[in-house]
Amino acid sequence: MVVTDVNRDKFVTYYLLTIGCVGAGLIAAAIALGRGGYAIGGGAVLMIAGFGGFAGKRAQGGFAVAPCPSCAAPLKFQFSKTERIMCCEACDAWSEGTETMAIVPAGPRAFCGWASLFR
Ligand SMILES: [Zn+2]
Repeated sequence: MVVTDVNRDKFVTYYLLTIGCVGAGLIAAAIALGRGGYAIGGGAVLMIAGFGGFAGKRAQGGFAVAPCPSCAAPLKFQFSKTERIMCCEACDAWSEGTETMAIVPAGPRAFCGWASLFR
């Protein structure tokens, strides 16, 4: 069963919302001070990155943890609502799924080491 990694998830949520609010604040300050241009452009970029990232995270799911179906070690991943395939750090078993993880019977096990390079 996939369980949301609450602490990590909260951190990312606050981080994205903070970026969005800083962007909004920058635009408000630029308007209040009568300055346009770069300040408003930079504020807009921050707002899009922050609030856009937050919206995307809501749609795709945040950070989550599911037990490895082979050895029950925690598998950590992002986007809890999308299909994923990943390799267990503890037992090198490949598993796939969305809401629950299941062992991939004959997967690309030889590439497990490569997957670990990107964690
Ligand atoms: Zn495992």
